[in-house]
Amino acid sequence: MNAPQSAPYQHLVDGRSVAASTGETLPMIDPSTGAVFAHIAAGTADDIDRAVRAAQAALDGTWGRTPAAERGRILQKLGRLIEDNVEALAWIEAQDTGKTITVARNDIRVTARYFDFYGAAADKLHGQVIPFLDGYSVSVLREPHGVTGHIVPWNYPAQQMGRTIAPALAAGNAAVLKPSEDACLSCVRIAALALEAGLPPGALNVVTGLGEIAGAALTSHPGVNFISFTGSTEVGQLVQAAAARNHVPCVLELGGKSPQLIFSDADLDAALPFVVRAIVQNTGQTCSAGSRLLVQKDIYETFVARVADAFRKTRVGTPAMDLDCGPLMNATQLGRVQKFVADALASGIPLLAEGLLADGLPSGGYWTKPTLFGPVPRDHALACNEVFGPVLAAMPFDDEADAIRLANATDFGLVGSVWTRDGDRQQRVAKRMRCGQVFINCYGAAGGVELPFGGVKKSGHGREKGFLALEHMSITKTVIHRHG
Ligand code: NAD
Repeated sequence: MNAPQSAPYQHLVDGRSVAASTGETLPMIDPSTGAVFAHIAAGTADDIDRAVRAAQAALDGTWGRTPAAERGRILQKLGRLIEDNVEALAWIEAQDTGKTITVARNDIRVTARYFDFYGAAADKLHGQVIPFLDGYSVSVLREPHGVTGHIVPWNYPAQQMGRTIAPALAAGNAAVLKPSEDACLSCVRIAALALEAGLPPGALNVVTGLGEIAGAALTSHPGVNFISFTGSTEVGQLVQAAAARNHVPCVLELGGKSPQLIFSDADLDAALPFVVRAIVQNTGQTCSAGSRLLVQKDIYETFVARVADAFRKTRVGTPAMDLDCGPLMNATQLGRVQKFVADALASGIPLLAEGLLADGLPSGGYWTKPTLFGPVPRDHALACNEVFGPVLAAMPFDDEADAIRLANATDFGLVGSVWTRDGDRQQRVAKRMRCGQVFINCYGAAGGVELPFGGVKKSGHGREKGFLALEHMSITKTVIHRHG
């Protein structure tokens, strides 16, 4: 596989690489330099329509008749092809998103694993036989929805693609993917590898372009039978409204403001690196970033001082420098993070520590430093809203009840962690946290391909990853047979 190409990255529709119907393109900007380094096709409603028709034709043709075991073999082969191309795909991902090359390599490996996992699971999605009245046989079939529409964000383009596309194809759907206009080159490359792996034309289509044009056209297309959306809470609401208009189900994976709870009996040496990595990794641009540090008040000062020391040692650089994190994604993100920091300072919240920018960074990059604030008032925007940058809000809590109240005090509920040596408390707190995943004495799950994931409240609904995703990506049909 070659290095990033300069010719426009085109859509992949019906197995062919095609330009936008208007011939227009969008520039792709390298977050480390602010310079244009590639172009993508600017998808239109017509392009989406072509892709949806191609997906429907695939279902009516070869793909729709492909046995589950064969679907699985194709997906596993795609996983192997992605593995074989880890290095090339990782550099594409790193340049496209600004993430460090180590994180990018890990992302591509996790992407491969999604295809491997769901490939292996494709023929294990079984129905049921239900005992019923004398003279009847009842079976519950699991069938694909049909054409599935997928919209993913820019922070983990390849991983997000694997996470949503692999289970959709494993369950026998035909998919149309609209990746983010800010970072999508790895998605286009992986879709091309899918053809190489033997996926029939039309089973997976990728249309690049703007969310409000191509994305909106996909979510409102009457030929789409299911929508999977990963992105912001605001756009998630639009997507859900569009799905409602066509009466199709949707899974929404949205934002977060996830708490890291540190009780005074915790193993603080073990907790420290997790606490820092949970917010600094990927420059804080992770839905499940641990952006609130809640510390029991008797150890608040000492532990937060240790976190501050660690923050001062974090370093920001280009993907190739491979330091703790890279630049932010774009000028909008930079402005957003800077505004949170400025507002916190204007409110008089103590800035406890900042990381370092490496020497010799390109001047046009969207650079920001990991920043620690505390104590942050509980009702301040920094305590409640998603920054989507490496800004950590520290807050003290009194006791277990107060910790749970504070952990659940935002509109979000994606993940959370609890650090304590008390086994009873670990279980009590995990059960009372309102979110979709809880980490006990750890944070993050290295991709967690097999672990059901998703939010509550404004973090979304539905579950991805693990076998649960296959259930979402399929639908049951109950067949009642009276045979006497
Ligand atoms: P975004 O909502 O702006 O964009 C996400 C995707 O939606 C992009 O592909 C975009 O083109 C598309 N889009 C934009 N407007 C649209 C519209 N009107 N109709 C249809 N599609 C449209 O989000 P972003 O800035 O790309 O990503 C950051 C957000 O994503 C953060 O809030 C983050 O927490 C969230 N996120 C959540 C998860 C999760 O699993 N819960 C994972 C990653 C990111």
